[in-house]
Amino acid sequence: MQGKILIVDPASTSRIVMKVKLSAAFYDVVQASTIEEAIDVAKQSEPSLVICSMQIGDGDAADLVENLALIPNGRNIPVMVCDGPVSVQMRLKALGAGVQDVMEKPINEALLLARVRSLIRAQHNTAEWQMRDDTSRALGFAEAQTGFEQPCMAQIISADPVRAQNWCAQMRPHLRARLSHSHPGTALRDISDGHTPDIFILDLPQDASKSNEVLRLLSSIRATGATRHAGLMVLQPQHDPSIGAYALDLGADDLMMGGFEPTEVSIRIKAMMARKAIADRLRATVRTGLKAAISDPLTGLHNRRYAMPHLARIAEHSIQSGRPFAVMVADLDHFKQINDHYGHASGDAVLIETAKRLRSNMRAVDLVARIGGEEFLIVMPATSINESRIAASRLCSTISGQGFRIAGESAPVHVTISIGLAIGGLLPMGSKFSPPDAESLVAAADKALYAAKTRGRNQFILSRPAA
Ligand code: GH3
Ligand code: MG
Ligand code: MG
Repeated sequence: MQGKILIVDPASTSRIVMKVKLSAAFYDVVQASTIEEAIDVAKQSEPSLVICSMQIGDGDAADLVENLALIPNGRNIPVMVCDGPVSVQMRLKALGAGVQDVMEKPINEALLLARVRSLIRAQHNTAEWQMRDDTSRALGFAEAQTGFEQPCMAQIISADPVRAQNWCAQMRPHLRARLSHSHPGTALRDISDGHTPDIFILDLPQDASKSNEVLRLLSSIRATGATRHAGLMVLQPQHDPSIGAYALDLGADDLMMGGFEPTEVSIRIKAMMARKAIADRLRATVRTGLKAAISDPLTGLHNRRYAMPHLARIAEHSIQSGRPFAVMVADLDHFKQINDHYGHASGDAVLIETAKRLRSNMRAVDLVARIGGEEFLIVMPATSINESRIAASRLCSTISGQGFRIAGESAPVHVTISIGLAIGGLLPMGSKFSPPDAESLVAAADKALYAAKTRGRNQFILSRPAA
């Protein structure tokens, strides 16, 4: 099934006609005749789209949108109206309430199905991000973003600059957005100049046979990194359902037929801006969540979750390149005493400073991760035994060489670190075995670390590969 659609209409004949059209296009259809019933069905069957009549027994389309927003995830379900002739007032009221489109009967089937595809595609996309966001939140990663909202940028793409300018002037009283315009031939070049609009309004030419140049832009905007999440609205001067359907299938989020009307365009753009803001926010929290999932919040270094697969990749790469690599496990000495003596917050400050010193003493290609309380993993790709000895010795001195400043203490505190070092990617001459894997290398480095501790700390020990 392509998706589930809820039809809400008090007239059973209208429901049946719509159901036949949608079922033939392999949609799963559920029905309701009142708003109350529609909400019950929506709760149970979680539709991807609602198609309704303008008037429903116990209210109208705007009331349905309002009630849907009260159920879990209901705000993300798009609603479109398909009905007989509709007054301009009703149309604007419905669009203003959040209805995404109003289609008037007789309905062109190709256009209806293109619109349905477009709305369901957008809904699935939002639902997917919503799910990833929920997962990040459940894992405790995503931080709710607080609302500093940039004014939205909308750009009209039109071959007729006078008309575009005129449209901008007419929309300004209705819309709090920065409006600009560009020519279809230069629109994408203007974008790469660093101004990325949130919304594009594409003006199709009067002459339908010349629509292709503008329509091609839809795919280009969708395929360009900076603009692929932009809202795309197509304005069609004439009623040409086949071009409209084509525009929707190429990725337009909204379509207005029959020319420019400033109030309606502004309402639609506002709704598009609101949907885009939600989608941007979802993407941003998921991104922050992903970053949080692989970082240590105290020091900003990578964590074990990131470090171990990264080490495994370096090990694999070393087999291909034939160059050895170094693995170090470093552990602060008598760190418990620092906590006991100066308090946990000072202990944290020492960890942060340690991370900073370790990181700034290694190359950008080296991995420095915090893999335990006061334990760090360092991986140096393409590094010889000698080079790694020098690096390990330098790390010990970088910690012990200069005391750590602790708040409230006049004298700097002396801190030391011990390091266990193991070399990967090397095989004893003539060995038939494959090189040790990431886990065994870390275990070998750990063992060497233990030896460094028992030999008096503030030193490194090189693990001897097992014969
Ligand atoms: P050794 O030289 O043998 O490594 O001794 P140690 O005291 O460093 O090692 P031990 O394992 O006995 O103690 C480690 C301490 O690190 C105990 C724990 O409370 C502390 N610790 C672990 N994570 C954190 C942290 O995030 N912040 C602070 N302040 N302390 C931490
Ligand atoms: Mg320790
Ligand atoms: Mg430890």
